[in-house]
Amino acid sequence: GGLVVCFGEMLIDFVPTEAGVSLAEAGGFVKAPGGAPANAAIAVARLGGRAAFVGKLGEDEFGRMLAATLRENGVSDAGVVFDAAARTALAFVTLRADGEREFMFYRHPSADMLLTGAELNVDLIRNASIFHYGSISLIAEPCRSAHLKAMALAKEAGALLSYDPNLRLPLWPSPEEARKQIMSIWDQADIIKVSDVELEFLTGHESVADEVALQLWHPNLKLLLVTLGEKGCKYYTKTFHGAVESFPVKQVDTTGAGDAFVGALLRGIVEHLSSLEDEKKLREVLRFANACGAITTTKKGAIPALPTASEVKQLHESA
Ligand code: ATP
Repeated sequence: GGLVVCFGEMLIDFVPTEAGVSLAEAGGFVKAPGGAPANAAIAVARLGGRAAFVGKLGEDEFGRMLAATLRENGVSDAGVVFDAAARTALAFVTLRADGEREFMFYRHPSADMLLTGAELNVDLIRNASIFHYGSISLIAEPCRSAHLKAMALAKEAGALLSYDPNLRLPLWPSPEEARKQIMSIWDQADIIKVSDVELEFLTGHESVADEVALQLWHPNLKLLLVTLGEKGCKYYTKTFHGAVESFPVKQVDTTGAGDAFVGALLRGIVEHLSSLEDEKKLREVLRFANACGAITTTKKGAIPALPTASEVKQLHESA
């Protein structure tokens, strides 16, 4: 199968040991490796695919721990570089009573923001079948320029570009700036995945109707996906669109569900889809991706919850 290269941030989430408490109330925290692009790379590898992560970590114990997490999960760290001065990014994450997550980030600046274009592993990026990224790496220089350069390298070498904006409003100077920068690279992507919340933020419409989703269409796009939590996902191509249901599960923690969905989608594309215009095959891949998202919500944390292919098969057969 082809190589999926994921670009961006990898960090450590500190998660309270008890559920439903504020950061101030929390008695203790556990470390959980995270960062959406890194999670997506691990999701691909857990399903048996080839994946690499490209990004910068602090040359500290946390940075070394994260690189080891990639390797232990079968993801190449050949694109990882270390910053001697800056720390690995940290995020304190609480699950509020209403089920939404709240983040407090430590990035002053963190190592991930300091990746430069000169530090990119050009050979690795040129070998990608799919080059996947988010928008957090667009927030600050020099990482922003490194991101744009990596996208250009991958595109030039013939990779499909895959974009999951992964909106984290507290990291941006303002919502307007977030929207502007997220959209600044919109028309480069071949594949775009947004959540229902991101669709509403980007379009300004409180609706996931087809005509709203299609406001995010651009002429060079091959596949647009809108994830809808327990309701599954919607898909749009140049010639057809539709929806695919998810699987009923007992949701415990949604962390990583979107990343599991993306990892499974990209793995499915490199493995099974010679054309994104084959609707029957695309629906099979999306059903599989929904299963991966669903399973991820049944366990705590992101990386520990990402499924193997046999877990997905079990859910398929029991449904
Ligand atoms: P997150 O930011 O929490 O990682 P997201 O908002 O990007 O996730 P979701 O739409 O919540 O993404 O979930 C991604 C996919 O996972 C959905 O499209 C769906 O297929 C599956 N999924 C998520 N939650 C559930 C659930 N409760 N039951 C079944 N499937 C789910």
